[in-house]
Formats: sequence, structure tokens, C-alpha cells
Amino acid sequence: MKLKRILSIPIFSVIFVVGFVYYITVFIFIEDCYGLSSPEGSWKAMIFTLLGALFSFSFCVCVLTDPGGVPSQFLPDMEENPVSDQENKTTAVQQRHCDKCSTYKPPRAHHCRVCRRCVLRMDHHCVWINNCVGLRNYKAFVVLVVYATITCAYSLITILCCALRKDWDFSGRMPLKIFYITSGMMVLGLTLTMGTLLSWHIYLMARNMTTIEYYDAKRAAWLARKSGLSYHHPFDVGTFKNFTLVFLSL
Ligand SMILES: [Zn+2]
Ligand SMILES: [Zn+2]
Repeated sequence: MKLKRILSIPIFSVIFVVGFVYYITVFIFIEDCYGLSSPEGSWKAMIFTLLGALFSFSFCVCVLTDPGGVPSQFLPDMEENPVSDQENKTTAVQQRHCDKCSTYKPPRAHHCRVCRRCVLRMDHHCVWINNCVGLRNYKAFVVLVVYATITCAYSLITILCCALRKDWDFSGRMPLKIFYITSGMMVLGLTLTMGTLLSWHIYLMARNMTTIEYYDAKRAAWLARKSGLSYHHPFDVGTFKNFTLVFLSL
């Protein structure tokens, strides 16, 4: 099952893009501007290799870690349910029953149509790791996005530094200029995408929300406003504690 998940086009696409960015950064830009045998060039290449290794390790962890399934013996606690009367309690419990898995779902668990099972604290199904992002691999996913952002930003700065160091009057052949511009635009796009994704997850972590809960909360807040009430996300326990719940969890 795991092997089948690894052998997917999106995962190979990520490996290809990472390999390509690593190759052009180290063997074309750093080699061309500093030389890999020079002290400056070798430590720049070493730092980038370390970042690439950290990214690759996190990527493997995200792909291979089980996001967290619902235990088969799980039963909802009727008494702990926040709704008051018996009829509403029964409706709430029915809503937490997954007809596809024929089990009850704990709070924050959702059914993933791709994985065909319920996932604990499900954030979303990520095609790039071909896995769900849930309770057990959310921290690894955030760390992966951090490494991806730093790695892309490092590559972008390297390309910019090389472009500024080059004497374009003498070495400014057109194909070389096109290569610099194309590579720079590609890495800039990756840096902005990863940076935006990281900002989004920092915002979600600060509020102890999953991506699914964000959209549910938006609707709940709109309904509350219509009734003249204010909505408070039930799992939000304060920004600092929300972050510790993610980073100090298993
Ligand atoms: Zn299910
Ligand atoms: Zn999934």
C-alpha cells in the first residue's frame, strides 16, 4: 500500500523539481560564479546541500507517516457533547457518524475520499505527498514547508547574487541571459508559493484550526453574525498554547 502511494506522478514531480533546482543552483550558478573548489563556493554548496537533505528527509516523513486513523472501537461520548437537549445530542452524534467507514468520528476527524477512510484532525489531502495531512504528520508537514521556503529563498538569493556579479557586457550572451531569467522566475514562483503556504499554516496554527475548520468557521461566523452573536473557534486556547499544541505534540 505504501509502495503504491510512493509510486505516484506528483511525488516523482516533486523529486524532479527538487533535483532540478539543486542541480542548477550548485552545478551551474555556484560553480559559474564562485567555483565549487573555492572556499566561498564550497561552503555555499554545502549549506544548500544540507537544506536539500533536510527537505528530502521531511518529505519522506510526510509521505510515509500515517496521518492518524480512527480506532475501530471509538464511540462518541453523549455526555461530553456540548449541545443541551437529548434530540439535539442524537442529531450531533448522527452527524459524527461516517456512513462510508461505518464508524463514529471523533471531533476534528473527517473522511478523506482519496484515502477512503476517516483521518484524525484532518487538515487536507495533499496531492504532492500523496497522503492526508492529519494529527500524526501535521508537524512534519509544517516543517517540510519551512524547509521548502528556506531552500527556495536560498536558491533565489544565489541566482540574484550571481546575476549581479556577472559582467553582462562581456559575458552577456542571449541564451545565458534567457537561462538566468527563466531560472530566476521559476525559483521566484516556488519561493512565493511556499512562502504563502507557510504564512497560511502559521495563521491556522495561531488559531488552532485546520484548513477544513477554517471554511466551517467562516460559515459559522456568518450565521452567528446574522443572529447578532459572535463566533469563537472551540479549539482556540490562545496563540502561544495553540503553537505548543502543534510543536510539542507527538
Ligand atoms: Zn470515514
Ligand atoms: Zn487523504
